[in-house]
Amino acid sequence: MDIRTAFYAPSSADLSRPKCPRCGSVLFAAERSTFNPNGRIRHTWSCDECGNEFVTSITILPPQA
Ligand SMILES: [Zn+2]
Repeated sequence: MDIRTAFYAPSSADLSRPKCPRCGSVLFAAERSTFNPNGRIRHTWSCDECGNEFVTSITILPPQA
């Protein structure tokens, strides 16, 4: 069996599992995450396939008063 033939169908709610911008491989766990006091979380990802490193950031909006 070749696991490379298994393809993950794109999902509309795939925010927590980004694809590597270089090779398209789906990543499952962030290398590290840093929280910013102004409401941003930065995830640093390292691709197992090609070694590419990239960062995603999420803005957490404060709850509406
Ligand atoms: Zn990659």
